Amino acid sequence: MADLSTDIQYIKGIGPQRAKALGKLGIATLQDLISWFPRRYEDRTALRTIAQLQPGETACVAAMVAAPPALSHIRRGLDLVKLRAVDETGVLEVTFFNQTWLKNQLRQGETYVFCGRAEGSLLHRRMASPIVEPLGRREATCRIVPIYPLTAGVSQLLLSRSVRQGLDACTGILPDVLPDEVRQAHQLCRIQYAYENIHFPESPEALDLARRRLAFEELFLFTIGLGRLRRRREVVHTAPMADADMEVFYRALPFALTQAQRRCIDEALTDMRSGVPMNRLCQGDVGSGKTMVAAACAYFCVRNRRQAALMAPTEILARQHYAGLSALLEPLGVRCALLTGSTPAGEKRTISAGLASGEISFVIGTHALLTGAVAWADLGLVVTDEQHRFGVAQRAALAAKGSHPHTLVMSATPIPRTLALILYGDLDVSVIDQLPPGRRSVKTYAVPGSYRPRIYDFIRRQRLEGRQTYIVCPMVEESEDEAAGERKAVTEYAGMLQREVFPDLKVSFVHGRMKPREKDAVMAAFAAGETDILVSTTVIEVGVDVPNASVMVIENAERFGLSQLHQLRGRVGRGSHQSYCILISDNRSEETRQRLEVMTRTTDGFRIAEEDLRLRGPGDFFGQRQHGLPGLRVADIGCDTLLLKEAQAAAEDLLARDPDLATCPAAAERVAALFARTPTP
Ligand code: ADP
Ligand code: MG
Repeated sequence: MADLSTDIQYIKGIGPQRAKALGKLGIATLQDLISWFPRRYEDRTALRTIAQLQPGETACVAAMVAAPPALSHIRRGLDLVKLRAVDETGVLEVTFFNQTWLKNQLRQGETYVFCGRAEGSLLHRRMASPIVEPLGRREATCRIVPIYPLTAGVSQLLLSRSVRQGLDACTGILPDVLPDEVRQAHQLCRIQYAYENIHFPESPEALDLARRRLAFEELFLFTIGLGRLRRRREVVHTAPMADADMEVFYRALPFALTQAQRRCIDEALTDMRSGVPMNRLCQGDVGSGKTMVAAACAYFCVRNRRQAALMAPTEILARQHYAGLSALLEPLGVRCALLTGSTPAGEKRTISAGLASGEISFVIGTHALLTGAVAWADLGLVVTDEQHRFGVAQRAALAAKGSHPHTLVMSATPIPRTLALILYGDLDVSVIDQLPPGRRSVKTYAVPGSYRPRIYDFIRRQRLEGRQTYIVCPMVEESEDEAAGERKAVTEYAGMLQREVFPDLKVSFVHGRMKPREKDAVMAAFAAGETDILVSTTVIEVGVDVPNASVMVIENAERFGLSQLHQLRGRVGRGSHQSYCILISDNRSEETRQRLEVMTRTTDGFRIAEEDLRLRGPGDFFGQRQHGLPGLRVADIGCDTLLLKEAQAAAEDLLARDPDLATCPAAAERVAALFARTPTP
């Protein structure tokens, strides 16, 4: 009999081949499979008549095949199956490309459900390549259909069928990690119902119940895990660091630090001298100068003859930090190194050796720093930049590499205290509430797409003044392979701009699919002023610093969260030039108008985060949700604030009664798995 750790290849109906495909998504066990939650849902419940089909609209109709389907070869590699389907209200012409088998599969006189986008006119309705199923055996039509995150070689159908098999195999064996009394007190549904309906919801209400229960469960387990981490932290002592002469460092800077930067540094240094590991969050709006706080702490740590690490969420950012910080610190005698996923193996070994011997004292990198091969001689400080991209578990994993190093977490995401607790555990907080002098706030405009010619003109005029521009390119429609779609969107848009709009300027582009070295070269050229316009995806959302760039144009602005727009906007206004942010959107909804207006009204990140929460509100289940956190797949920390409070209270209550979770082994096991990369939660 199966249990949740069963390899999916042994699940009935899956087998080795499908298991191999699913393996590409990291799905290995039955637990992985049923926890592969849909990214969103499509409501295909309504069944229309042909006469009710509106051209341009996606819908399902039940219709009878009126004549045998006809197959024609249009040209090499393009076969067409065409048929006429009817119901009592009208005629629908249906075509399929390269699905020749349908010619024999679809029978004259039988009724099928066709689900797709209606085209043509009200007199002559057509549908191209719809999903088709016999009326009596519907799997993918006439219901709320899960849409899963995919990868190449794994289709929606493969996933939803496999999940179906997985759920069937789970009947009766799903352990409920929530103690019964907790479940009842918070009116949460049972586990089997929850998994069933998060994947295949009977109704929007059932989905709501399922999601609520699974989100509660995640937040509950997360809080328990954090509670146990915190208890462990309280008993740890480390050798206090000694005072060091920081003047050398301050004098090396090209500018005087702000009061707020100095205060944050002092707070951190005090922690490091205390004899208890520092666990501090440094929050500061974009552009407030967090990097220098990190640099000061690293310098202090190295002066104490211990090593420091700085972990950034993207390769681009890691490289940029390395370039800036090594230039600053190497002359002060701090040996620096860069270690990322793309560091060649040989170099990695050299760096590893340098770290193990203590020769290298400050290493900057991505999560590659977490790999087992990297060993430090004496890691004293771990700084993570733009922490919201990392999970608590990852941070703890890095911390575990030293003997309780100090940790400093830097974030530009202003978040309410309760959410901070979930994201960061129980950290002390420093706030950089001041921008470096001379900054002018970024002028922000929300405009429709018809303004593009004027925007292009504006970019050109800024160029004449020597400035540079970022353009965040239109986001792609949902596609099977999101990364590939993004690459296409970026390269095509950049190509169009270069050819048709700015033939005399230099347009470059960067996207997530490029090799790190290519990205690096593009970013370096832009930073050096060798290119004028950088077209990109949101890979430039975090951290990147090119003070000469003064224009940020964001296409499809309505598709971004406000906080994300704020981060993107933070890429400009970093020097002393007046900077501009232009939000392009053709979406006319009241909600979009309000959201974009918030951006034009304020540049205060905290205000924007608040508005974001207020406007988005809870429960946007059919929309796209942001899953920021590893370990939190269902819960949305932006929206589930009330649920979070409930789950935290329940978790704390349980921990007070039963700190070792003796009464709920299933919960203990899941907490252990959730924090698997931390030593002993
Ligand atoms: P963030 O808080 O967004 O990480 P950065 O650390 O990238 O901000 O700093 C933004 C820009 O401001 C950088 O170009 C940096 O060199 C500059 N900067 C930082 N501190 C100061 C300061 N005290 N005075 C002037 N410029 C500063
Ligand atoms: Mg930064």
